[in-house]
Amino acid sequence: MIPYGKQNITEEDIQAVAKALKGDFLTQGPTILEFEQAFANYIGCNYAVAVSNGTAALHLSALALGVGNGDKVITTPITFAASANCVRYCGGEVVFSDIDPDTYLLDVEKVEQLLKVSPKGTYKGIVPVDFAGRAVNLEAFRKLADEYGLWIIEDACHAPGGYFTDSKGQKQNCGNGKYADLAIFSFHPVKHIATGEGGMITTNDEKLYKKLLELRTHGITRDTAIFKNSVEFAVGQSVKEGDSYPGWYMEMQTLGYNYRFTDFQAALGISQLSRANQGIERRKAIASKYNTAFTGKEYINGQSGNIDGHAYHLYVIEVEDRVGLYNYLREHKIFAQIHYIPCHLMPYYRDLGWKENDMPLAEQYYKHCISLPMYPTLTDEEQSFVIDAIATYFKK
Ligand SMILES: *Cc1c(COP(=O)(O)O)cnc(C)c1O
Repeated sequence: MIPYGKQNITEEDIQAVAKALKGDFLTQGPTILEFEQAFANYIGCNYAVAVSNGTAALHLSALALGVGNGDKVITTPITFAASANCVRYCGGEVVFSDIDPDTYLLDVEKVEQLLKVSPKGTYKGIVPVDFAGRAVNLEAFRKLADEYGLWIIEDACHAPGGYFTDSKGQKQNCGNGKYADLAIFSFHPVKHIATGEGGMITTNDEKLYKKLLELRTHGITRDTAIFKNSVEFAVGQSVKEGDSYPGWYMEMQTLGYNYRFTDFQAALGISQLSRANQGIERRKAIASKYNTAFTGKEYINGQSGNIDGHAYHLYVIEVEDRVGLYNYLREHKIFAQIHYIPCHLMPYYRDLGWKENDMPLAEQYYKHCISLPMYPTLTDEEQSFVIDAIATYFKK
């Protein structure tokens, strides 16, 4: 059986987790900070906050940026529902905007058209998604965001190790915090780095970083400098000048959550991260082989191609008879997948007023897209088998 994506757990990974399990901490220990620092270093940002999953990362990001009742936030319909749902968790309103049919990414020009026709202040933020691993040009989005006073949460779940090249010719890693206020990642098994469940928020903004740490743990702080209650209250008896807060004391200052990560997952994350570059190289090689195999084939109407900086979480092709190909591949034990059913046409969002033809390009894309097997341990023989099966199907 050949799936579309798969984790790669090595003996080293297992040893790392076993070691963490024998340590003093199962959760809230030092391995989490170590993973956060290693991840921030890999991405090239100042701060990273590990959380229980990518969806929690989105939720906390929306909270930290202050999304509240009725706040309008723009995102793409071609994404996993969580990119939009995080706005709903905070009572905000999701405004979908259509994709660029060539890149499959949120189209910055369409977003600009949306912003132009409303008074400034109508929208609060944008959640662009590095869909399939292709990096969004965040420099362009930042320009718009600054003009209209918006924040940006980059959903980089598909793109650790991806980058785009900015107008100065500099490579900008996905999630590096240069253009987006916050970026989020997932460590679900199909993603580049697998920890079972897991997520990360990256930023260069110290204030947001501190807020996220607090929100991750119930809204509790142990920072004596910002305590609100008096020392006398904290101690529970009369105090004299110069007495300080007792060791046990902490304060819950805002409504937070328990979105913590665990130490043994962090150990797995560190071990996985050490092979991240290898994984990307293998993904690029797989993409290149698909690209060569499909170039000039009349039955392929679009494909992920060879794109500089693409992290290749997915390799997507567009074909006319998509369901036929999907079923044929399944008969041959190749489990391709569809990414994504347009989010605005999920019954939940239809109930909020979204309907067919609202996002014509995303809807057209959905009718033809299919994601082919793409993961580092996919062998050459397996990939050839996939390519041959597709060719055979269209020549029947
Ligand atoms: C996987 C994914 C998420 C959610 O991550 P979880 O860890 O599964 O909660 C969010 N956005 C995108 C684009 C994803 O692919």
